[in-house]
Amino acid sequence: MITLPELPYAKDALAPVISANTLEFHYGKHHRAYVDNLGKLIAGTDLAEAPLEEIIRKTAGDPAKAGIFNNAAQVWNHSFYWQCLKAGGGGAPTGAVAPKIAAAWGSYEKFVEELKNAGVTQFGSGWAWLVLDGGDLKIVKTANADTPLARGQKALLTLDVWEHAYYLDYQNRRPDYLAAVIGRLINWDFVNANLG
Ligand code: MN
Repeated sequence: MITLPELPYAKDALAPVISANTLEFHYGKHHRAYVDNLGKLIAGTDLAEAPLEEIIRKTAGDPAKAGIFNNAAQVWNHSFYWQCLKAGGGGAPTGAVAPKIAAAWGSYEKFVEELKNAGVTQFGSGWAWLVLDGGDLKIVKTANADTPLARGQKALLTLDVWEHAYYLDYQNRRPDYLAAVIGRLINWDFVNANLG
């Protein structure tokens, strides 16, 4: 039974970078719809009691299971995304990930440029990610529901670049949304926990 996880903060906690209005729709409507749709699609199947990660891995790349994969991956991606954000976050990384970012990109500024670029250049809907691939930190982007979990990569951080993530607050200005979230909301403690 896949359920909608609690948001890890109040709906107005991320304002003004992400408004309560956006979270009402994004969490309360979009994320909930993926959970509800997934539940209907797996009811009575051999995936009905499977953990979310197993549903994603078992349906990835199977055109006959695309509906299940898309909804399951979107449930996982959103639950992960909420945890990547916190009020008063953002700015230069702290903890174990900081020297790894410096080693991989040379500077925090260059890392931000590449992360923003991944989000801005994702054509249409999708996600920008910081992942561990083997032992290496990489910035990648995925289309629609696709997720590093289905590609053998370990997700450390994500930014949702579907229009529903920013349109109410930033309209078409995806670069402004990305700059604000990276600068003011990234939860580096969560990123470090994922490095584990
Ligand atoms: Mn979303």
